[in-house]
Amino acid sequence: MEIINRRQRMSSVARKIRRDQDRSIGLVPTMGALHEGHLSLVREARRMCDVVVVSVFVNPTQFGPSEDFEHYPRDLTKDTALLTDYNVDYIFAPPMEEMYPKDFSTYVNVGGLSKLLEGETRPGHFRGVATVISILLNTVRPDFAFFGQKDAQQAVIIKRLVRDLAFDTEIVVLPTVREDSGLAISSRNLYLDAEEQESASVIHRALKQAKEAYKKGEHHAGKLANIVRTTIETEPRVRLDYVSIVDAETLDKLDKLDERPILIAVAAYVGKTRLIDNIVVNKAKKDAATSKS
Ligand code: AMP
Repeated sequence: MEIINRRQRMSSVARKIRRDQDRSIGLVPTMGALHEGHLSLVREARRMCDVVVVSVFVNPTQFGPSEDFEHYPRDLTKDTALLTDYNVDYIFAPPMEEMYPKDFSTYVNVGGLSKLLEGETRPGHFRGVATVISILLNTVRPDFAFFGQKDAQQAVIIKRLVRDLAFDTEIVVLPTVREDSGLAISSRNLYLDAEEQESASVIHRALKQAKEAYKKGEHHAGKLANIVRTTIETEPRVRLDYVSIVDAETLDKLDKLDERPILIAVAAYVGKTRLIDNIVVNKAKKDAATSKS
């Protein structure tokens, strides 16, 4: 395994793999502090692709001014050890000035979708995400790039980005990995103590209850949202930011639910930590995980 810090080196290594060796490349973009959620993506990349590149970069442009960029957990030594065990070929861990050289001035904005849900509370977040993913896709030019359903809106936005700007990469979205309690694994769970983590598991319980109610015939979005809200309210340590029931592909708000895939998305605070989670009901029968741009 090689750790690459320079964009130019990453591009030329990837170019050789594609051209001279005709081997497929899978990219797993991360911000490090790797956990089982990330590793599930790495495992699938390893299964599907000849060469696996994992990028580790805490992307400043996707953090708001009062967010946790400075304190975001970073441990490249530990991440490297984990990725060695997973037989990863390259870690791309660029320093800031490699990704954002002086006078950097080009940003990518996926209109509409970026303003909804998370975008309402985190203006600029998805502009930062779309920009960094564009740089990574252009640098590595992977055949496949792997993302988690945990960040459902991000996955929708990246699929749209890839389609709209004709990136030649297939986006693969994989299921959310959870603790036994149901809590979605996240690097930000490190901010929570054991009791808070236990309390935070109410988020997944609430989502599951809404899904059950839907299956039993409750197709009124407001009522499903209420199930989520009232369940989360039973846990005093958890404060709901929003629950939204939207079309899983367009993220349009829905009132009356029909047979299309529906995303129930939640953001909630546990202390100062903001967590997001979601559940999909009516998942499309065909393999909905993969979409070619
Ligand atoms: P991050 O390091 O938080 O930017 O996440 C990198 C990738 O890992 C993103 O595609 C996330 O959606 C994905 N990811 C994070 N947590 C999980 C999880 N619990 N299950 C599956 N994928 C995840």
